[in-house]
Amino acid sequence: MSNPILSLPAALNQFAILLDVDGTILDLAPTPREVFVSHALRDTLARLSERTQGAVAFVSGRPVSELDLIFAPLQLPAIGGHGAELRIVAGAAAGAPRLAPLDSRVKQRFAAIAEAGPGIVLEDKGYSLALHYRLAPDKETLVRAAAAEICSDLKDTSIELLPGKLVLEVKQTGVTKAIAVRELMTYPPFATRRPIFLGDDVTDLGVFEILPDFNGIGISVGRDVPGIAACFDRPADVRRWLEQISRNDAFATP
Ligand SMILES: [Mg+2]
Repeated sequence: MSNPILSLPAALNQFAILLDVDGTILDLAPTPREVFVSHALRDTLARLSERTQGAVAFVSGRPVSELDLIFAPLQLPAIGGHGAELRIVAGAAAGAPRLAPLDSRVKQRFAAIAEAGPGIVLEDKGYSLALHYRLAPDKETLVRAAAAEICSDLKDTSIELLPGKLVLEVKQTGVTKAIAVRELMTYPPFATRRPIFLGDDVTDLGVFEILPDFNGIGISVGRDVPGIAACFDRPADVRRWLEQISRNDAFATP
């Protein structure tokens, strides 16, 4: 994979910068609570937000309140819960959830999968439930098979399974990151901008697909995706690039 320094053909304030968080700007940690946000990254994001007049947003599976916690004191516009939450204005509260929390009985059934052994870490994200097996990668087949079985059992419930990097998420159908990005792009300052979206995982693929509708630029991390502009190898490369564009509008063409 290439590791490009992308040239931006125009001034930064003609773009909106939309960022997946885990695995894109942050290195994945053994458990989701252990992610590390450096002062340098906070400064870069704050500078980018300032230079784009507020057109920097997170597009994450985490709830907005959790994003605020890990990036504190920085609060950016954000899509949380894979599209279940949308905060248009930095620092404001997220709007009304677009999705009811996952039914507690449904949660309990999937949560029981974590009892299959040490190393399966359960994360209740409210709108979704994540089963992390980063500490026990050998449990992947078990986790996925057990979840698929519960899904086929819950015929009347609109549940979908989102496979990620050493994680399986259980969420209701109805909202996606792509749907929420479409909505975010109708509000100023995003509405008049070309979006640059960076993402690394399966749930980001839908966002890459809608970018042409906004003349957007897709950049993936760690995986080749058809139709995107570039691919970075790892989050550290993304952080370096964001730092560069936050300081300078002029770049060499790759
Ligand atoms: Mg990610």
